Amino acid sequence: MFIISTKTMLKKAQREGYAVPAFNIHNLETLQVVVETAAEMRSPLIVAGTPGTFSYAGVSNIVAITSELAKTWNHPLAIHLDHHEKTMDIEEKVRAGVRSVMIDGSHLPFADNIALVKNVTDYCHRYDVSVEAELGRLGGQEDDLIVDGKDALYTHPEQAQEFVAKTGIDSLAVAIGTAHGLYTAEPKLDFERLAEIRQHVDIPLVLHGASGLPGSDIRKAISLGICKVNVATELKIAFSDALKNYLRTHSDASDPRHYMVPAKAAMKDVVRKVITDCGCEGRL
Ligand SMILES: [Zn+2]
Repeated sequence: MFIISTKTMLKKAQREGYAVPAFNIHNLETLQVVVETAAEMRSPLIVAGTPGTFSYAGVSNIVAITSELAKTWNHPLAIHLDHHEKTMDIEEKVRAGVRSVMIDGSHLPFADNIALVKNVTDYCHRYDVSVEAELGRLGGQEDDLIVDGKDALYTHPEQAQEFVAKTGIDSLAVAIGTAHGLYTAEPKLDFERLAEIRQHVDIPLVLHGASGLPGSDIRKAISLGICKVNVATELKIAFSDALKNYLRTHSDASDPRHYMVPAKAAMKDVVRKVITDCGCEGRL
C-alpha cells in the first residue's frame, strides 16, 4: 500500500519536531520531480492538488501515476486534496484512492464551517482518510480561489480549540500572516498567535502559503508546532522560468524530452531546499 493518509506521518513529525512538505503538482513531470527528490532524500512526502489540478490532469491519472512512482521508488506517500470545498467531490476522490483531504470551509460562518467539516470528517474517518481544515483566512490566490487582503482573517486560538473538538479533524491549517501566491511585501508572521494556538490545540498544525518565506521563518514556525508546510507557487515559477529560458535560447526546440529537463532540474532545486528547511530529510 503506497498511497497512505497523512495521519501517521504528521503525528511523527509533531513528535520529532520537523514538518512534512506538501508540494502542489500538475502533470507527469512535476510528479516525477517531487517523488524522485523525496525518495533520494528519504523524506516523507505529500503530493497535493487543487480541484483545478485534478480536473486538468484527471483524478484517476494522478492517482495511477503517483501510485506507480511511489511503487517504483519504494516510497509510501500521501496524495492530498488541497482546498477542496465540495463534499461530493471529496467523496468521489476518496473512492478513487485518495487518502488525505483538506475540506476548506474557511469562507463560511464559524458554525457552518464546523457543520461542513464534521460531515466530511465523519465520512473520511470511515475509510481511514485523514482530514485537514482551515480556520481563519489566508489572503492571496490559490488556483481559482482568490482572497482579497482585507478579507484575510487570523486564526483565533480559543475558536481553534472549539473547532478541533467539534469536528474531529486530524490537522488544522492556521492563518498567521502567510498568503497564497508570491509576497509583494516582506511577510510578517504572528508567531505569538501560533504559540497560543499550539497551547489550545494538540493536533498537527499546517502552514499554507510558504512560497517565498525565508527558511528561518519556516524553522521558527516548525518549532512552534507547524507539522506540514504547503508549497505551490515557488515550484511553478522555477519550472516555468527555466522552461521559458530554454525555449528562448533554443528557438528550434520541439522535443519535450529535451526542453522539460532544465525545467525539472530548476524545480528539483526548490524541492530540495524546502525539504531541508522542513528538517525532514532522512525521516521517512
Ligand atoms: Zn493553501
